Amino acid sequence: MIIGLTGGIGSGKTAVSDIFHNFGIDIIDADVSSRSVVEKGQPALVDIQDHFGNDVLDSQNNLDRAKLREIIFQDPQERVWLEELLHPKIAQHIKDQLEASKSPYCILVSPLLLETEQKNFCSSVLVVDVPEELQISRTLKRDGVSEEQIKSIIAAQIDREQRLEQADQIIINDGSLEELKKKILVLHTKYLDQC
Ligand code: ATP
Repeated sequence: MIIGLTGGIGSGKTAVSDIFHNFGIDIIDADVSSRSVVEKGQPALVDIQDHFGNDVLDSQNNLDRAKLREIIFQDPQERVWLEELLHPKIAQHIKDQLEASKSPYCILVSPLLLETEQKNFCSSVLVVDVPEELQISRTLKRDGVSEEQIKSIIAAQIDREQRLEQADQIIINDGSLEELKKKILVLHTKYLDQC
């Protein structure tokens, strides 16, 4: 059984997955997969370099993710090109990790779960949700970036209502970490029953 865990920026995906991990559940992180497929020596990095030129590499010949982000932010066609290149490779990487999992069920955590084919791997979708004010204040505290930047990331992500509509379960992460742990223990017990 694979539970897909998603939520907006700063909603608490990592906090939630850390708690499941402490209960012995394997966590497969789509962000880790998306970084792995563009590591030095990976075919996708060669394709990216051929397409965008050496400007997207840093002095160590690693992908300059900020530079690439800047390019695709300004050009939707380039964004589509990049997504068509990377999404199948990320999906394959995730699939390999899911198949290697040994815990009674596992969690696939991904900010893009609902926007990509990644949701097709999952038996059910768990959304972690917070009021936007809290989402912004927690992200501000964590990242020290501007409120404007956070709001533009929220605007670029799937709409909160649409995300919630696709949820099988919702965790409202508006309390303390202790409260979050209690909510997750209830879900964990339920998931174990379903295995
Ligand atoms: P991103 O999509 O940006 O990776 P995320 O959804 O993984 O974010 P977290 O990093 O888990 O979000 O949480 C954002 C911040 O809020 C972190 O600093 C985290 O420690 C804090 N946080 C999460 N949940 C709680 C909580 N219940 N109480 C207090 N702080 C929390």
